[in-house]
Amino acid sequence: MEGCIFCQIATGKTPARVVIQDDRTVAFHDINPQAPVHVLIIPRRHVGSLTELGEGDGALLGHLMTQAIQVARLSGLDPTGYRLVVNAGKDGNQTVGHLHVHVLGGRPMTWPPG
Ligand code: AMP
Ligand code: ZN
Repeated sequence: MEGCIFCQIATGKTPARVVIQDDRTVAFHDINPQAPVHVLIIPRRHVGSLTELGEGDGALLGHLMTQAIQVARLSGLDPTGYRLVVNAGKDGNQTVGHLHVHVLGGRPMTWPPG
């Protein structure tokens, strides 16, 4: 999608520190990390938000989740744990309009997230 920063990362037009990628997803380090490990997993195809998805999207959502698990494992987070976050829409504080899963780890998280 024209003008979408994460579409540009998916196509390699904008550089990113890629962790893993495959035909459907790309995982890369967040530019403004909120934890020692902060990686984003995006679908290659433009999806604006969880708010656009539904029952037919289980395969993509499941794949994003398994890629997040893989990133956490590769980052050494399994022994101490980690947090997955998906912000959706305005009240979810989503700031980039291309669906992404945050993998956060390497420090204890607090609750509620705020
Ligand atoms: P959200 O608030 O859930 O939409 O999160 C968007 C995330 O994207 C933030 O954590 C930003 O730091 C991150 N971000 C924005 N632009 C880039 C970029 N060019 N490369 C890597 N991460 C980015
Ligand atoms: Zn996009």
